[in-house]
Amino acid sequence: MILGSSCNTVSDTTTLKHDIELPSKIPELLLEKHVKYLISYETDKDEYTYCMTEHMRMSGMYWGLTALDLMGKLEQADKQRVLEFIGQCQSDCGGISASIEHDPHLLYTLSAIQILCIYDALDVINVEKVVKYVKERQQPDGSFTGDCWGEVDVRFSFCAVATLSLVNRLDAINIEKAVEFIIKCMNFDGAFGSKPGSESHAGLIYCCVGLLSITGHLHLIDADRLGWWLCERQLPSGGLNGRPEKLPDVCYSWWVLSALTILGRLHWIDKKRLVNYILICQDTESGGFSDRPGDVADPFHTLFGLTALSLLDRDYSLKPINPTYCMPETIVKHPLNPTCRALFPVEQKSTLNSSEDPPLTLQSWLGISKVNEHAKNELYDMKLINNSLDIPNQTKRDTFEPEVYNFSRGYGAPVGAPRVQR
Ligand SMILES: [Zn+2]
Repeated sequence: MILGSSCNTVSDTTTLKHDIELPSKIPELLLEKHVKYLISYETDKDEYTYCMTEHMRMSGMYWGLTALDLMGKLEQADKQRVLEFIGQCQSDCGGISASIEHDPHLLYTLSAIQILCIYDALDVINVEKVVKYVKERQQPDGSFTGDCWGEVDVRFSFCAVATLSLVNRLDAINIEKAVEFIIKCMNFDGAFGSKPGSESHAGLIYCCVGLLSITGHLHLIDADRLGWWLCERQLPSGGLNGRPEKLPDVCYSWWVLSALTILGRLHWIDKKRLVNYILICQDTESGGFSDRPGDVADPFHTLFGLTALSLLDRDYSLKPINPTYCMPETIVKHPLNPTCRALFPVEQKSTLNSSEDPPLTLQSWLGISKVNEHAKNELYDMKLINNSLDIPNQTKRDTFEPEVYNFSRGYGAPVGAPRVQR
């Protein structure tokens, strides 16, 4: 579960505050403390918070393990124990639950698949049964229910599509209907809510933009209008909120930034001020990040603090994060993964530009010998949004052959994406 419990709901009833004041001293990024915090969170099973989070343990594992991987410390986690746990959480219907003997749900199914992709260990579960479970969640209007009880939300649509694409089985569902439902959730402001007619919300925008990017439908978004709504989430403190009139919160740094990155508009926010806000939310004694300065740290905000920093500043010792899947790029762009992500993130044109470099072909950048249809669609959409390839304007989608074009560095080439895969 990339999306967690609802954040940003706290407000002071006596004096309504919509922002915080940052102290003058901003701490460094305390990576060693964050590693220690995450490892002890996972191993100290007597902790009150550990016991109280059983109902979302699978996602907790995903948050912690992804954060460790971003910091290059995944080997410190107990891989064998994690894999055994995931194997025990798959139920007969194919779905995966948060904990052993809990009910399966799409949120935890995606978390489990993400962890198994990180460990390259999909064989510990029955993937075909997962595909069947996800397929059964799709409703006639294209939406998805999270489990067998029927709640519908765009979060579940994203979980379904992300899960299937990670196991290369997007063919199992009706993509056009899934996209149709997402577009019905688009509001007048260009942003998205949880259902048709629901209020726009940054976390749900991430889900909708992510789904449209995976399925090759980014051209259906009004990227300028949505990008503007997203940048308006930045407050004077530098932090981002999830909706107008709400307090800043570290986790929205991720949802807003990931969507802006996919849309090629990450440079529309004030990066330095946001970095300062995120750094001030670290627990400088025990490690971890909280939603706001002074609050208790947790693995959820720790992951999203780190992923946001990975998008914002490549000088930190963090692996590049994939803005769509919230997994390290090295995993998502694995050359053997046929759903290989083609194009994200694209940033300002100036950052990578070097006219002396030789032309870069799509295949050489991806490290693959063949570009599949899915990657072609993505590439075409990004071309429309970012002019990232030097392709004649009259080229239609169905005649588009990316193999014959060269990337111009600094246009289509993704920022910080590794050429050499793991
Ligand atoms: Zn939060």
